[in-house]
Amino acid sequence: MLISTLTTCALRCPHCGKLQYYGISRFSFNQNNSLAYKCECGAVLINIEKKGRDHFCLQVACMMCETMHKFYYKSKQIWNGNLWVIVCPASGVELGYLGDRKSVVDCVRKEREHILQLADSLGCDKFFLNSGIMGQVLSVLQEKLEEGRLFCGCGEKQLEMEIFPDRIELTCPSCGAVGIIFAETVKDLQRVREMDEVRLEMGSYLYLDYKQIGKHSPLKNN
Ligand SMILES: [Zn+2]
Ligand SMILES: [Zn+2]
Ligand SMILES: [Zn+2]
Repeated sequence: MLISTLTTCALRCPHCGKLQYYGISRFSFNQNNSLAYKCECGAVLINIEKKGRDHFCLQVACMMCETMHKFYYKSKQIWNGNLWVIVCPASGVELGYLGDRKSVVDCVRKEREHILQLADSLGCDKFFLNSGIMGQVLSVLQEKLEEGRLFCGCGEKQLEMEIFPDRIELTCPSCGAVGIIFAETVKDLQRVREMDEVRLEMGSYLYLDYKQIGKHSPLKNN
């Protein structure tokens, strides 16, 4: 069995949405009982605490719950080259990856490719202000669409979707209703996830995330 002394952790920051990589050395815990790893914006993304000789408690910042979740691992699980997907127990959202560097980088690449495919299938070739958030918002919308929870009040279910760097615009081809969903910050993602249904209002122009009114300037056609 290959014994590794370095494991890689990739986590998304709940505050700024950026993905951060950390190399976590087994030897750092010879002197320290606990170590905190921060995002470049200053937020603590993971805190690793040594419990006894062989056990570790990982507290991972969750962007959905705005809290830290605890996960317990044995040292041989962390530093054995296996890949662990860190998942929020409440929402099922993937918070990050832990394992050997190549597997972690592969996961992040797949996540990115998935976003690009999704954007491509929707006919979007624009850059995103925050591609991680955009990808997840699109996934949530796709999920709601498949469950029949994305529709227009006029009864139309085949909505047209247009993607912009910071938002998604849904248009109803039957009555012309428009709905705007922002996809730039972690808050935007949280709100979309919290919506039971995405419903356009017949014939009207609507910010589906009503809390955003006033925060963003009025939209122009571009
Ligand atoms: Zn950050
Ligand atoms: Zn959570
Ligand atoms: Zn309609």
